[in-house]
Amino acid sequence: MAQLIDGKALSAQVLQQVAADVALLKAEYGIVPTLAVVLVGEDPASQVYVRNKLKRSAEAGIGSREHRLNRDTTQQELGQLIEALNHDPEVHGILVQLPLPSQLDEDVVIASIHPDKDVDGFHPLNVGALAAGRDTLVPCTPQGCMIMLNQVYPDLSGKHAVVVGRSNIVGKPMAMLLLQANCTVTVVHSRTQNIAAVCRNADIVIAAAGRMELVDADWIKPGATVIDVGINAIEVDGKRKLIGDVAFDSVFPVAGAITPVPGGVGPMTIACLLLNTTRALKRQLTAHPDKASVAVAANG
Ligand code: NAD
Repeated sequence: MAQLIDGKALSAQVLQQVAADVALLKAEYGIVPTLAVVLVGEDPASQVYVRNKLKRSAEAGIGSREHRLNRDTTQQELGQLIEALNHDPEVHGILVQLPLPSQLDEDVVIASIHPDKDVDGFHPLNVGALAAGRDTLVPCTPQGCMIMLNQVYPDLSGKHAVVVGRSNIVGKPMAMLLLQANCTVTVVHSRTQNIAAVCRNADIVIAAAGRMELVDADWIKPGATVIDVGINAIEVDGKRKLIGDVAFDSVFPVAGAITPVPGGVGPMTIACLLLNTTRALKRQLTAHPDKASVAVAANG
């Protein structure tokens, strides 16, 4: 039977670390790390995600700014807001909740966020830095997965990891982080042949396909670690239920360790967003030491 990797408990530990960092930054520089969250339109899932992010920010002592724009917002209007946030010295992280309404070009929006404030780690410069193995702001979900994996393997060196999915926000950065940790990495996707056989060779399977219960026991080598990134919402008896990309009941007896859905990768993603917000501020203080001295002077 598998060890359950508890994302709720682990994220609470990360949030404690964030709260300690916030206290230190406040004491040393008189600055409260602040996250601006931009939500365009009324997508119900996005509204839930934004609410949770703001709630956790407040709990960790992170300041927040909420910018709600209507569904018909133009590229220019959104661009102007991001430009203002880029220049606002009291905003250290900027998150634009995706997906955006269809009239808006996500690539343009992501590229317009200042890379030092890009707490999602989606800006092309940060993507490139991650690919080059440099220290940078890393996408939150894969970062959370790495913390979970380190619970099972403090040293991931030489492990064979299979990532199911190749999106820019999960699959690709996940593969980069695993490579950096010296894993042997295989990325499989919708066009891959014999996926189950590829996964059966893996010590680690990261499921990020957005396909409900795609991964079952036949895909998993006994004792392997299974990280379930998938969030698939269904209705059961009129209630919203979240199901992962892993058929949990089938895989649990075979795997060595597994994450649940909900209560697995989800809470870790939010915790890593807040971790990135304090990191973003630290990077800005290092890049602009004058900002640190000005803040200290202003606060006596
Ligand atoms: P996406 O749709 O952008 O990408 C899915 C990827 O899976 C694609 O690369 C595709 O090739 C691959 N894929 C699709 N069907 C497949 C199949 N049958 N076999 C193998 N590969 C297949 O999705 P995404 O944004 O990467 O998200 C993936 C899942 O993770 C979704 O369920 C999403 O809701 C969830 N997610 C969760 C969190 C979290 O915090 N827990 C964060 C981000 C995304």
